[in-house]
Amino acid sequence: MRRQRATIAAVATAQGEGGIAIVRASGKLARHILRSVFRPSIVEAEYESHRMYHGHVVSESGEIVDEVMAVIMIAPNSYTREDVLELHCHGGTACSAAILNRVLQCGAQMAEPGEFTKRAFLNGRIDLSRAEAVMQLIGARGEAARRASLRQLGGGVSSFVDDLSKRLTDVLSTVEAAADFPEEMDEPLVAGAVCEAISEMAAEIEEKLDPRAARILREGASVVIAGRPNVGKSSLLNALVRHERAIVTDIPGTTRDVLTERVEIDGLYVELSDTAGIRETGDKIEILGVRRARGALTRSDVVLLVLDLSEPLTEDDRALLRDADERYILCLNKADLPAKLGESSLPNRERVKLSAKSGAGVRQLTAAIHKKLGPSGEEGLFTAKRHIELAKGAADHLRACERALKDGIAVDQAADDLWLAEKLLSDITGRNATEDVIDAIFRNFCVGK
Ligand code: GDP
Repeated sequence: MRRQRATIAAVATAQGEGGIAIVRASGKLARHILRSVFRPSIVEAEYESHRMYHGHVVSESGEIVDEVMAVIMIAPNSYTREDVLELHCHGGTACSAAILNRVLQCGAQMAEPGEFTKRAFLNGRIDLSRAEAVMQLIGARGEAARRASLRQLGGGVSSFVDDLSKRLTDVLSTVEAAADFPEEMDEPLVAGAVCEAISEMAAEIEEKLDPRAARILREGASVVIAGRPNVGKSSLLNALVRHERAIVTDIPGTTRDVLTERVEIDGLYVELSDTAGIRETGDKIEILGVRRARGALTRSDVVLLVLDLSEPLTEDDRALLRDADERYILCLNKADLPAKLGESSLPNRERVKLSAKSGAGVRQLTAAIHKKLGPSGEEGLFTAKRHIELAKGAADHLRACERALKDGIAVDQAADDLWLAEKLLSDITGRNATEDVIDAIFRNFCVGK
């Protein structure tokens, strides 16, 4: 509680060289700090809220620390709903560190990770799922993740969960009425209505659960390019990345390690790896490369198996094709040359004809990759791991209750599962979250947010 009353301060921008850095303070001392450390270029009687002032931060002895822009945001119209002061100084670490020191001298305390956002939550400005969205937005890799986090920040998850909680509470009051006044209620009728309502809710939750798609959205996907030597793997990587990084050469077996590039495919963050040419080999270094390549293959979300359309299938190709599961896309490369590969002998897997050299077919390939990676967040899926676990738990309890009612268990006895489902749903927005849960969530935030 004492901590809640303290004025907190931190550097809000990332460490490193950049144009500007921002030191932020939140709490009752914000105005006092502004008056103490800031010397405005044009002196005004009172600082207005949400207005930028030019001037300097000065030390206790009046020495200039840095030239800054200062803004104060008076409660409750601020990020934390407290008075918030921002000092925009020169970038890099030295200026912001000196200014932060000055602010701490005036009575502020160093903020803990995520403490500004935690205050926004504790002061009722945002719920837990929206606080988490802030962190997701900061860490978003790629367009799709940015859009999904923004939707969550705008209350997408909160309104879905609040609506379900409300409907569940209505169902629970029906159940309670049935238990309290059994003689006035037609038990099978009530059980039927409850069953229908909760089955609908469970289905709505399940529709938003796709842990694989959510992981890909959060962390990015891994796509591996595989194939025997010389089929055009490095060329394909280059074509996909659109700049030359892998060494392209005619000598088989020169890409000896796994080389990774990061690209965005239709908004999804993808780690694209070119593996060593997989073939039977005696070369020791190459054997290592091949082993690593096989490891990368088993872990990847999508495998691009490159085949050379201008040559008949070899034993090495056939060996690779035997492992082709549903994650595979067969990339029939060198389509610019006369075809010699018998396509009819290929397994029934998605295939794209292309030329890594000319770029023909590469667009079709990225579309095929995107399709294999699944929904991209536009569908309003749960994306945070914590939300997925809680929502899955809630859906499971609803389904358990549905099964019990169908088995003829009395409505009031089946209701425990409904209470548990409601508890899990409310944990998503943090309506009744305990201090431990809240602390654990904000501990993962960065300092200054
Ligand atoms: P890797 O060993 O599988 O990585 O194959 P590379 O990318 O090094 O390519 C092997 C050879 O095939 C090089 O001479 C490339 O220029 C050539 N190559 C790659 N893709 C194509 C293509 O689409 N068409 C043609 N004609 N040649 C290609």
